[in-house]
Amino acid sequence: MDAPAPLAGLAYDDLAALLAARGMPASHAERLAGRALRRGTLDLASIPGLGPRGVAALSPALTLRATTVVHRTPSLDGTTKLLVGLPDGERVEAVLMPLARSWSGCVSSQVGCGAACAFCASGLEGLRRSLEPFEIVEQVLHLADEARARGQKLTNLVFMGMGEPMHAYDRVVGAIRRLTDPRLLGFGPSRITVSTVGVVPGILRLAQERLGCHLAVSVHAADDALRRRLLPVGGQWSVEEVLDAAEVFRVTTGRFVNLQVTLLAGINDGVEHAERLATAIRGRSFHVNLIPVNAVPGTPFVPPTQEVLDAFRGVLVARGVIAHVRTRRGSDVAAACGQLRRRAAGAGPADDAAGAGGPAVTPGAGRGAGSGAGSGAGPGSARTFRGPRAPLQ
Ligand code: SF4
Repeated sequence: MDAPAPLAGLAYDDLAALLAARGMPASHAERLAGRALRRGTLDLASIPGLGPRGVAALSPALTLRATTVVHRTPSLDGTTKLLVGLPDGERVEAVLMPLARSWSGCVSSQVGCGAACAFCASGLEGLRRSLEPFEIVEQVLHLADEARARGQKLTNLVFMGMGEPMHAYDRVVGAIRRLTDPRLLGFGPSRITVSTVGVVPGILRLAQERLGCHLAVSVHAADDALRRRLLPVGGQWSVEEVLDAAEVFRVTTGRFVNLQVTLLAGINDGVEHAERLATAIRGRSFHVNLIPVNAVPGTPFVPPTQEVLDAFRGVLVARGVIAHVRTRRGSDVAAACGQLRRRAAGAGPADDAAGAGGPAVTPGAGRGAGSGAGSGAGPGSARTFRGPRAPLQ
């Protein structure tokens, strides 16, 4: 007998076909999926019209959860980090964050990551595999459970956990289609943000998908050479190419584009870097999120002082750029992407030093609230970053 299919991985038509193959009308699909996914329970007996024969036919064929929460870590600031066990024994992270007027979830798209950002724990181990759509959707279900247990509702979603979403493109798009299908989970597409290190072909392709979601792009520096050192994969494209692609996305979709700039003291936080960034985005309607990297013992990365942060933002604002300083969430529970998984896997001291930042949020923004800024490299496997301040070229 085949293993039960994860309900979260079925598109509406797949579910209708599964029902039809068992002699049931497709009309049951919406009722079944909507109830199970939105309420978080697969109580087939409570589905009107299914009847005992339908329940008997479907029980061995469907499962609501093929993944499990193997570790749950609440933070002092209300953030909760979930370590989610996958059917093959791999683990990924998902984070629930309380915002000013909403609850935001941050989900992973891959196990590990091949983007190798200089300050990220997930990138340390490289890519192991991309997630299947059901493994992404089930993270959302677990986060919704977590919010429900607090009498809250999961309202926003960001793809800023482990992995580069553009490297798991089809699975991420498939998951978003399942999440936003009004006959299934019905999650509002305008409450979803997909992040990327700036994979231009992915951005341009995503612009054509008509998903209705927003985009966040890691820039970190407007200087191509410096950006390449911070984002080896994202740096394959020039800042101008990345911003041009982001502009195409914004114009084509009518959705927001947030530029993410993680600030590392003495590396990319000078007023000259801010000036160059303002010049690069001149004439484009992007919002900029400034994310101070967390202080991480044993790594070269420390956050700028508040004075430096304010000066950086001041330059942008004076040049007409909308810029926010984001606050870190869950830093006491290793909430930066990849940290909890590495800790659970016994990464030891390397992990303890790994966190450059938990999921970061813009107060009141209600979107773009993720951990895409990554975290820092630990001493055991640290990538070296040369030069106290990369000169602008
Ligand atoms: S910050 Fe995101 S994209 Fe970069 S290595 Fe980490 S998980 Fe991958």
